Amino acid sequence: MYYQSRGVILKSRDFKDSDKLLSIFTEKDGKVKAIAKGVKKPKSSLRSCVQPFCHSFLYLNRGREMDLITQGRLLDFYGNSRQDLERALHCLYLMELLDKSLLEHVPLPGLYHTLINVLKAINEQELNPLYIRYFETQLLVHLGYQPVLRHCVKCGQQLDKKIFFDLAEGGLTCLSCSRENEYQMVFSGETLGLLRFMTEGNLQAVNRIKASPAGLKQLELFLEKYLEYHLDRRFKTKNTISLMKKNMVFPN
Ligand SMILES: [Zn+2]
Repeated sequence: MYYQSRGVILKSRDFKDSDKLLSIFTEKDGKVKAIAKGVKKPKSSLRSCVQPFCHSFLYLNRGREMDLITQGRLLDFYGNSRQDLERALHCLYLMELLDKSLLEHVPLPGLYHTLINVLKAINEQELNPLYIRYFETQLLVHLGYQPVLRHCVKCGQQLDKKIFFDLAEGGLTCLSCSRENEYQMVFSGETLGLLRFMTEGNLQAVNRIKASPAGLKQLELFLEKYLEYHLDRRFKTKNTISLMKKNMVFPN
C-alpha cells in the first residue's frame, strides 16, 4: 500500500551498503520505521530530504516490517539550527524525545504541527529555553499525561498556599494529600504559572513570557523528572546539554 505524508527524520542509521534505516515522525501515521534505499550513493534523489534538520514530503510503500521511501521532496531546511551547536543539540534532543516516546503508527497531528512550529522558531531566532519546555509539556499532554494544575489531583479540593506536585499522581495536591517522598516536588508560584502556560498557552505567546532564572530552572527540573517518570526513559542528549552548561559552553 502506498501512502504519502509530511515528515521529520528522528533517527537515521546505516543499513546495508548504501541504504539508511530511518525513524520518521510523519504527520499522517505518527512514528514509522522506513528504509531509504541507495540514499548513500552521491546521485540519490532522496539524499536531501531524509537528513536531520529537514521537513520533507515523503512517498512511502507500506512493508510488512518496515516501510520503504520511494520518493521525497524537501519542504524546509533548518540550516541555522544545524550550524549552531547549542540550537543543534536542542533540536536533536527533541528528536530523541520523540523517537523514544512515540508508539509506531499512532497519528498525533497536533503534536506534529507543534514540532514544526518549534523547529521553525528555533531556526529563525535565538534559542529560547521556553520553546523546549513548551514542547516537552505538549508532548506529555498529547501522550495523555496532562498535569492537573487547577485543583488537588487526589481529592479535588482547592489548593493551599504551599504548592506540592505529585509526579506519580500527575498533578498538584493539597496539603492534606501531600506526602513527603521522592515523587513530590514543591513548586514556587512562578513555576506553577509557567507550567500552566506551557500546558494551556500557545507558542506565539511564549516569546513574551518573562521568567526568572530560578523559575526556568525549576520548570526544567520538573519536566525532566516528569518525563523520566512517565516515559521511563533517560535522554542522552539532555545530559550532553547539561554538561555543556556546567562547563559554560552554553549560557545557563
Ligand atoms: Zn487533596
